[in-house]
Amino acid sequence: MGMTVTEKILARHAGRSSVQAGENVWVHVDVLMTHDVCGPGTIGVFKEHFGPTAKVWDRERVVIIPDHYIFTADSKAHRNVDILRDFVREQGIKYYYDPDFIQGEGMPNPYKDPTQTKYKGVCHKALPEEGHVRPGEVLLGTDSHTCTAGAFGQFATGIGNTDAGFVLGTGKLWLKVPPTMRFVFRGEIPPYLTAKDLILAVIGKISVSGATYRCMYFAGDGIASLSLEDRMTLTNMAIEAGGKNGVCDVDEKTLRYVKARSNRPDWEVFKDDPDATFIETYEWDLAKLEPLVAKPHSPDNTDTARNCKDVKADRVYIGSCTGGKITDMIFAAAILNGQKVKVPTFVVPGSTEVHADMLKLNVRGEPKAAAEKSIMDVLAEAGCTIGPSGCAACLGGPADTFGRLNEPLVCVSTTNRNFPGRMGHKEAGVYLASPLTAAASAITGKITDPREYVSGRIPTGSAGLV
Ligand code: SF4
Repeated sequence: MGMTVTEKILARHAGRSSVQAGENVWVHVDVLMTHDVCGPGTIGVFKEHFGPTAKVWDRERVVIIPDHYIFTADSKAHRNVDILRDFVREQGIKYYYDPDFIQGEGMPNPYKDPTQTKYKGVCHKALPEEGHVRPGEVLLGTDSHTCTAGAFGQFATGIGNTDAGFVLGTGKLWLKVPPTMRFVFRGEIPPYLTAKDLILAVIGKISVSGATYRCMYFAGDGIASLSLEDRMTLTNMAIEAGGKNGVCDVDEKTLRYVKARSNRPDWEVFKDDPDATFIETYEWDLAKLEPLVAKPHSPDNTDTARNCKDVKADRVYIGSCTGGKITDMIFAAAILNGQKVKVPTFVVPGSTEVHADMLKLNVRGEPKAAAEKSIMDVLAEAGCTIGPSGCAACLGGPADTFGRLNEPLVCVSTTNRNFPGRMGHKEAGVYLASPLTAAASAITGKITDPREYVSGRIPTGSAGLV
């Protein structure tokens, strides 16, 4: 019987010629990622079960990326970073991205130059940038949005601290092979849509539990027309439908990026067999899809931006692993160029590389000439408040977190979750939206269909290509 990409990857990593959905197999892991929130707990499990002097299974396959509670004076958050530092030193972990500006107590001073810090920002954005994401591999991470890396044609999923502690000690995990659901998008993506609209359409259709323990495979010429970064938005939110993993086909865009970045040569591209089994298939015609939002308090509470035009916004937030990539910043800047925001608008680059690109690229995504404005200039002149890279207010965090909703505000956000309290205050109302919709809403102070501001294709130039 034919296999899907996910089945083929898991079979290969289980040392088997084939597996079927529903089977449990021991899977060898290529990369284990952890961060400042779950890293200390994972290290605790590892030491408890493997002993205080145990060594990790492979110091070059463990990647540690602090990103969640970074720009805060909270002493417990700083303590977590210190635990990671001690572990990295003790184990000789090769890939660790230290927030080197956290020294001592109090609110750390953000890096002055995003190219002059070891810190990388949000783990799911930093993983591919730093060469840890490759087709055909198994990536596990102690964060539910680890599924983001499925955009690169690999099996990537979030696991808990207990499983991660076991992987640290053994390099393998007992996994059930998920069945695959297929989501087909037809036609080229129109200029007023981004992948955020596509994934909201999917989640609105199948609900937040519609893909529970299933692989979500995004297919069709509509997906091929997306940039690699936009595909990451799709797979990032697979978990918002309960998906075990999300996956996209590998094409020239993927290969170009991975070949330019990967720190290992030994990876393999898998394709679905022609007779692979998909337990369900859904199809959309992109020309008929409208800009969408997810209303409070669930990602499946979707509606068109047009239907929400009377909803007043108190704040706009553009950031996170979902909506803080360089192409997201270009989409926002294209709308805000020459405009002024009407409501406080917080912008958080997804990584320090995105931050650096915002300084050096123009609004078309090309290196800016001396007299040209950068993406950063455009957003700042529009009145946005721009913070340092990190998870920031995407998950609320301590009260001093940049952009956190400390009051019951209505916020239009490019993030991925809008459950009560997710961005801070339990009574805040978060509308999930694309960067185009978020930027258009910042100008009007109400939820706004970006078609009012988008007149043609928005070029993204060389941004996010390699
Ligand atoms: S940006 Fe938000 S969703 Fe992404 S890893 Fe950080 S907290 Fe999680």
